[in-house]
Amino acid sequence: MSDPAPSRDGAMTLRFDGRVAIVTGAGTGIGRIYALQLAERGAKVVVNDLGGSVAGQGRSRQAADAVVDEIRAAGGEAVASHDSVATPEGAGRIVATAVEHFGRLDVLVNNAGNLKMAKLGEAPVGDVDAQVGVHLMGTLYCCRAALPEMQRHGYGRIVLTSSGSGLVGFAGQAAYGAAKTGMVGLMNCISREYGEQGIFINTIVPTATTRMSQGLLWPQMEKFLRPELVAPAVLFLASERCTSNSGMFAVAGGHVAKLEVHKAPGVQFDPTKPVTPEMVAARFDTVCDMAGAAEFRGTQAAMEKMLTQMGVM
Ligand code: NAD
Repeated sequence: MSDPAPSRDGAMTLRFDGRVAIVTGAGTGIGRIYALQLAERGAKVVVNDLGGSVAGQGRSRQAADAVVDEIRAAGGEAVASHDSVATPEGAGRIVATAVEHFGRLDVLVNNAGNLKMAKLGEAPVGDVDAQVGVHLMGTLYCCRAALPEMQRHGYGRIVLTSSGSGLVGFAGQAAYGAAKTGMVGLMNCISREYGEQGIFINTIVPTATTRMSQGLLWPQMEKFLRPELVAPAVLFLASERCTSNSGMFAVAGGHVAKLEVHKAPGVQFDPTKPVTPEMVAARFDTVCDMAGAAEFRGTQAAMEKMLTQMGVM
């Protein structure tokens, strides 16, 4: 496939010639920019969008069709998909569109999203289901449909779209935030299942001024948070040059930074003797002390070191 070509400043230009990409929710907002930029750099793009409102109501073919027209007018290759990501059948048809039109699938950018603000106790069940259905199940269904196709030729790049609202919390976004953080677990497991087959999956935590974020961002920040400033990190993660697998990255306003789960050194009680709630209470300050915290790589790995140090293993 495409080798990076040297650009005038000596850096390698990332190209997607010969690659086929799906961008879900690409009719507007950040996804539209991904689709335009991937096509500009040589990718054949499936522009998927249901064409509804921010809350996910209604449907229109116009959103995806307009982006396809824009790509073609600029000399690129694209095809529209109007299916919903939120059903296994819809996700299957989105992947089939890539294969039927362009013969393969290399890149999947899971970007489609909806949002309906409400405190959880007041949120209609239908709205809760719709948000979990698009963000978590839609991402899962699209990955599930795409992975065998990528596995067929031993290459793939998948980018998921999480949110700070799940990682740190945001009032009014319980269902949305839960679904957005659920997909981090999805990524971690897929990375272990398919990484050795050349399929790498990463997640971004973006912030950008779009119709979805209207009224939620600090007004003085809005002009710095252009979707165009999120796209470069996503294009890198979608490229051959990216060897990161299972990474999570905060991306906003030209800032790109890795995010990790860290574990405090904590307290190791002797596991061969009884441990009481009172013992935990007495040492809770130490349990919570993050000085010396390190990346969490699983309970067994963390315990092995401590138990060896204690001489009980
Ligand atoms: P947006 O509303 O402009 O774009 C979302 C797109 O997804 C829309 O075009 C919509 O029609 C499409 N969509 C919704 N449901 C769909 C479905 N079932 N199938 C296919 N397409 C569907 O919003 P945006 O800000 O560009 O959001 C893009 C992604 O980034 C979303 O996943 C969102 O949750 C996430 N995100 C955005 C921000 C932000 O600051 N804008 C912050 C965190 C996460």
